[in-house]
Amino acid sequence: MSHYDVIVIGGGIAGVSIGFELSKDRTVCLLEMESTLAFHTTGRSAATFLETYGGPEIRALTTGSRSFLENPPEFFEAALLSPRPLLQFAKQGRGSVIEQLHADVLPLVPDAELLDPAQVAELFPVVAPDYVERGMYEPGAMEIDVAGLHQGYVRGLRANKGEIVKSARVVGLTRGPEHWVVETADGERRTANDVVDAAGAWGDVVAELAGAKPSGLMPLRRTIFMVNSPQGAGTKDLPIFGDIDQSFYVKPEGAQFLCSPADETLCPPSDAKSDELEIARAIDEINAATTLDVRSVTTSWAGLRSFVPDRNFVVGPDPEVPGFHWFIGQGGYGIQTAPATAQAGAALVRGEAFPADLVARGLDPDRLAPHRPGMSVAADH
Ligand SMILES: Cc1cc2nc3c(=O)[nH]c(=O)nc-3n(C[C@H](O)[C@H](O)[C@H](O)COP(=O)(O)OP(=O)(O)OC[C@H]3O[C@@H](n4cnc5c(N)ncnc54)[C@H](O)[C@@H]3O)c2cc1C
Repeated sequence: MSHYDVIVIGGGIAGVSIGFELSKDRTVCLLEMESTLAFHTTGRSAATFLETYGGPEIRALTTGSRSFLENPPEFFEAALLSPRPLLQFAKQGRGSVIEQLHADVLPLVPDAELLDPAQVAELFPVVAPDYVERGMYEPGAMEIDVAGLHQGYVRGLRANKGEIVKSARVVGLTRGPEHWVVETADGERRTANDVVDAAGAWGDVVAELAGAKPSGLMPLRRTIFMVNSPQGAGTKDLPIFGDIDQSFYVKPEGAQFLCSPADETLCPPSDAKSDELEIARAIDEINAATTLDVRSVTTSWAGLRSFVPDRNFVVGPDPEVPGFHWFIGQGGYGIQTAPATAQAGAALVRGEAFPADLVARGLDPDRLAPHRPGMSVAADH
């Protein structure tokens, strides 16, 4: 049996990022059940970096990831971010919601700007007349090269002598007197001092194998569909345009728009498929809010955004199962927060303190702790 300091379960962005961080001073083996990495949620994201998104802990992890993404270490593509500002809007009667959000985000995102309808129309000329009451512009929002980020972590992990094993579904986790025995579906057994659960939507399935109490993780399906821009016009200078009330968003991509109904349908962990009814609803919303006149969809897909009810991540050692570390619940923010979350998660596996720079950004580490008080209470963001 091969022995490692740490076995990481899951080869999405969560697994490869914490695996890379730990491989700097630990022997690491990453096990992925699919024959390719990033097959599930990581391969299906909208690839945005939005500092105003999510609650205060998420905003701290996102802003805390910016410098890594802007100046990544060796192993990574030089440019992981490219500019793609975000314009969120409030429909008539909803302006106060965006004003409150603006006040909340200003301490961490000081260049976020409140806009009136004329300014919204100037930045997004295809908005329908009289649809919008207020807007908020985030000029520093970015597009992330998700494959480049994921691949950089894979290269770094391998360069640090970490092992990555695909088609290796973990089916057994047994804690012996000295270490874990990790069994995969092919009958192989490996041992490790610590196990990291980075299994995305399957986070609670893996936790139960280890005898840990489940976190209440909810895999919520989100659909994406692509439409052509009118007359194939370029969209280079347009921002992402999204409803503050989450009825839809559209993101310019070359001569197309990537669109989402912003749906959140509870699903079992699985290979998620797009929801045709949600696509039809979103097309109606987009055609009411814009002059894009969407009539057909070129392609669509879906992925599972997995949250615990308070919508914060679950990062750190299980309080009752020694050597079992949670690294799940990244919901809709797991790409943009990956660098900071991986550094924090790796510090906790090593038994070190939570990174001080994230605490200075207002992040209370207890708000990410497994089985924290209030974790099962639904958040309003
Ligand atoms: C439509 C959509 C849009 C999104 N847009 C954005 C965005 O713009 N920006 C952003 O930051 N985030 C976005 N997200 C969220 C982001 O994609 C996720 O937070 C992130 O990908 C989660 O990564 P993960 O590694 O936890 O999960 P996954 O990528 O799902 O990885 C988990 C892995 O664990 C493996 N696994 C499970 N069980 C086992 C087992 N027993 N043994 C071995 N392996 C196992 C799975 O096969 C899987 O590969 C979006 C998500 C969706 C669906």
